Amino acid sequence: MRRRPSRLVILGHPVRHSLSPRFQNAALRAAGIPLVYEALDVEPADLERTLLELRDSDAAGNVTIPHKERTAAICDTLTPDARRAGAVNTFWVEDGLLVGDNTDIGGFAAAVTALLGHTPTNARIALLGAGGAAAAVLCAASTWPGCRVAIHNRTASRAHVLSARQPEACEVVTSALDAVRSAQLVVNATSIGLQDDAMPVSVEALSDGCAVLDLVYRPGETAFVLAARERGLRAADGLAMLVEQGALAFERWLGIDPDRKVMRSAVENSGRG
Ligand code: NAP
Repeated sequence: MRRRPSRLVILGHPVRHSLSPRFQNAALRAAGIPLVYEALDVEPADLERTLLELRDSDAAGNVTIPHKERTAAICDTLTPDARRAGAVNTFWVEDGLLVGDNTDIGGFAAAVTALLGHTPTNARIALLGAGGAAAAVLCAASTWPGCRVAIHNRTASRAHVLSARQPEACEVVTSALDAVRSAQLVVNATSIGLQDDAMPVSVEALSDGCAVLDLVYRPGETAFVLAARERGLRAADGLAMLVEQGALAFERWLGIDPDRKVMRSAVENSGRG
């Protein structure tokens, strides 16, 4: 069995906005584990040195914007999920080696199952966005039988780079309207709606009966989720994914299942976006 980590951290820049310390510390307290999960604001130029120091001190943790892709290049070894995504959001030390994993993929898959009641098969999926979150979505969707992903991103070149990672599962389309046309699942993996009530695409353009998963989380839900539900569609925000990616990371570090209800209510009671 792996040793318990000496400390738990999240590395980001900025990192003050992160909800992870709130719900990870709630889960640690609930499990009676005497560790405190700390947020470390790390400038990109300091990332490698920081990760190597954390490796030497047997620490573990998460990585968030903008460090997920560079961390994948710095880790000594990657899990298959981290390799496929080209991004790391969770790390720990094993036999002196820095191991990088990606629990956003499992977190997203669990959120989809919670929304639909099953894993999609033979579905057309609209993926709006092409950043780190979109990479996790594409990795999950590429394992679902018969599913095709239509990707649209504001910066088309970034969508092409993403699609080249799983070319058999996706195509790049030139507008959000093209992406959502006849899609059974629409995923917002952009940051649109995080700060205001903007939406990545009009809900009027969505197919009847499609489901909407907005990866953005804000207290009171996003305008996109509320409008989709108003149109009679199934819709959920990023809360389930946020909690599940954190719960999967907790399991990797500590070898036990955290209390997801405790994590979820810590986020819901945070009162911030
Ligand atoms: P990222 O790598 O910085 O990517 C941001 C994405 O949003 C890019 O596709 C970007 O397009 C797009 N975008 C930003 N502003 C836009 C605008 N005004 N119009 C159109 N597109 C815009 O970030 P990320 O890690 O992928 O995260 C994306 C969102 O997912 C964030 O809101 C984050 O909170 C959420 N997220 C949620 C979870 C969860 O667990 N629920 C996990 C990870 C991320 P360009 O390429 O054109 O800039």
